[in-house]
Amino acid sequence: MNQHTSSGGTVTGRFAPSPTGLMHLGNAWSFFLAWLGARASGGRVILRHEDIDPDRSRTEWMDAMERDLSWLGLDWDEGSSHGLHAPYHQSMCGPLYERALDALKAKGLVYPCYCTRKELRMLAGAPHGASDGLGDAGAAYPGTCRHLTPEQRAQKEAEGRHPALRLLCPDDDVESFNDLVLGPQNIPLKDCGGDFALRRSDGVWAYQLAVVVDDVRMGVTQVVRGEDILLSTPRQLLLYRLLDAPPPSYAHVPLLCDENGERLAKRHHSLSIAALREKGCSPTSIIGFFAKVAGLQPDPSPVSPSRLADNIMREGPFPWHALPKGSLIIPHNAPEAWL
Ligand code: GLU
Repeated sequence: MNQHTSSGGTVTGRFAPSPTGLMHLGNAWSFFLAWLGARASGGRVILRHEDIDPDRSRTEWMDAMERDLSWLGLDWDEGSSHGLHAPYHQSMCGPLYERALDALKAKGLVYPCYCTRKELRMLAGAPHGASDGLGDAGAAYPGTCRHLTPEQRAQKEAEGRHPALRLLCPDDDVESFNDLVLGPQNIPLKDCGGDFALRRSDGVWAYQLAVVVDDVRMGVTQVVRGEDILLSTPRQLLLYRLLDAPPPSYAHVPLLCDENGERLAKRHHSLSIAALREKGCSPTSIIGFFAKVAGLQPDPSPVSPSRLADNIMREGPFPWHALPKGSLIIPHNAPEAWL
């Protein structure tokens, strides 16, 4: 079992949006808590665009993300185009990911996987197959290509297959950490999808590797993100250990969901920050609503993020325990109250 402790000292938090659509209320909620968790302890905030997937990322979404964060009053000290830890765009960090990959290869922990998505789906017997990125871990990779012989690899290459690269994960590893919101966690790696991808077969770097390399090099000490990413954390903790880097502390925050219990996503256009702004909602009323939901004030009265940060700073450590547990339903007419 591997015990990880939260890092002390000044908090460095971060926004790590994927520019694949407009910011919606659910993203804004996580960014609000990431910002407040850092600012309320006098800490710093970094903005990093996770534009790692060239097919899904667009510059206009990054611009929109920055506009929406600023409009909400959630500022950052470095990121986008300025700061000591540039680049702040994952699309520009390939050589850094390559170096980490080489370090893992030197430990004999990386192997090529020639399975196609379709084969993985069939192997796992799952309708949607394994995912190697966000959300739940997907069906576990059964280790098909773990022990291919050099001849078998050559044969696959001769068939014209391009391999993904996977990390050889210890079979009985359990990752333990103390989540600021969820409390003590002990999660077996085998429940997190098995050997996970470091680079996809099309050469795109995988989220798990990129996020760890960037959080390490940017000195991020506190990661606040949605509960849907919880099962990525044990995989990332393993990478921290293998790369000899101290892990950050984690807060996995409850997800905002619609009335059908579906987590808010980019398809909920009417709950995008841009749509709410156009409707006439004020940023302070959205933040006031978040503050009420987070247990930081008794009612949803409009408030600015900086006022909240000042209040919390006066009263002591950030009350992560006050956050509700489980998903939060946002009634479809909730924004009407923010006009
Ligand atoms: N880029 C990821 C997302 O938008 C964030 C992952 C993280 O916070 O580690 O979901």
